[in-house]
Amino acid sequence: MTDLRLALDFAQANQARFVAELKEFIRIPSISTDPAAMPEMQRAAAWVAKKLRSLGMQNVAVLPTAGKPVVFGELLAAGPDKPTVLVYGHYDVQPVEPLELWNTDPFEAVQIGENLYARGASDMKGQIMVALKAIEALQQAGGMPVNVKVLIEGEEEIGSPNLNAFIAEHRELLASDIALNPDTGMIAPDLPTITYGLRGMVYFELRLSGPKQDLHSGMYGGAVHNPAQVLCEVVAGMHDAQGRVTLPGFYDRVRPLSAEERAELARLPLDEAFYLEQTGVPALRPEAGYTPLESIGGRPTLEVNGLISGFTGEGQKTVLPAKAMAKISMRLVPDQEPEEVHQKFRRYLEAAVPPTVHWELVKMSGGYPSLTDRHLPAVEALCQAMEATFGKRPVFRREGGSVPVVAQMQTILGTPSVLTGFGLPDDNLHAPNEKTHLPTLWKGLDTLIRFFVILGGD
Ligand SMILES: [Zn+2]
Repeated sequence: MTDLRLALDFAQANQARFVAELKEFIRIPSISTDPAAMPEMQRAAAWVAKKLRSLGMQNVAVLPTAGKPVVFGELLAAGPDKPTVLVYGHYDVQPVEPLELWNTDPFEAVQIGENLYARGASDMKGQIMVALKAIEALQQAGGMPVNVKVLIEGEEEIGSPNLNAFIAEHRELLASDIALNPDTGMIAPDLPTITYGLRGMVYFELRLSGPKQDLHSGMYGGAVHNPAQVLCEVVAGMHDAQGRVTLPGFYDRVRPLSAEERAELARLPLDEAFYLEQTGVPALRPEAGYTPLESIGGRPTLEVNGLISGFTGEGQKTVLPAKAMAKISMRLVPDQEPEEVHQKFRRYLEAAVPPTVHWELVKMSGGYPSLTDRHLPAVEALCQAMEATFGKRPVFRREGGSVPVVAQMQTILGTPSVLTGFGLPDDNLHAPNEKTHLPTLWKGLDTLIRFFVILGGD
């Protein structure tokens, strides 16, 4: 029987040691994008593995991938009638350049006031520390009330290129009821946040070509359809006046936002004024019938990411360009599928591109969206744990971005993820002077201790 009080007291009494261990972890410059840092990646992985062993975990291993290794460990002593939580994390960090903008050494964590400054302090060595220390505190207080598996990868900051294959190869090892991903943060220090939806993405290059070479616009203009003009027309035709995407069937599989979801999203302090201030645009243009936040988190989009054609240098050149190209991506929501959307895009182009030009569509990448049922026991447990710790019900958020590992765990393992974390918006993630707010981190630790206990149900 786990004693919650004992675990919370243990966590509080050991804060200084936890910070010392976090500093040790931070001291390993595990920058995944740097090919020369491979020994540091190995060292960081070994450090994590040692910590997992010290928690009494079984089957602890540093497992190879085609890139940086993955650290795994499990603790299944709670027994088969208790749920299994897969704790996800990444031990890699972003580069530290430009170094001159740091006030302190990025790899020698320094506490100033309530903040600890260093690369990885928030994203996400600090979050890993919290998750592992929650397990340690519970182990000291009678044992883990649920089963846990831990997967800490080393390539998140470069897009997790080898994780998909790793998950597929280790299906049984990773089998679990819910994944806890503490790599997203809080909206504000007093606002615990649960992210339950992420958009997928599919990315294209659309290439148009007309004449076999650039032409003189005086000699041929008027008789030859200009590919730059065609591209503009084709791209402009992809949205209607309401901001809706016009590709036939684009919305067929879109799961509508429920009234309950919309009410929850409306609780977030992310209103029109917020987005105006963040972006500096003169006016917003959400999809008709939706708030900006709903449009970002709950609706699919089609964006032009880049356009190029003809003469773009200084001065003038009367050219009728031979080619025009657009980079186009779509953010997808459940239950859209990247390949199906690709085919719909193709059908739109078949109808929209005139016979005066050739066209080619290249699909560059595709990833699935994900949505976790907010009424799953694990989500309810996290919600209660946050309320007990922060004295406030968390807000539920759907993010407009993509976290590939979440969709991979959902599609390959059938394991939904609950995303949270105890970083703050001003933590300077990926930037100079990254920091973590220690009092918030300690609340995070209490939250995760409570989460495991509530989920274990005794
Ligand atoms: Zn991260």
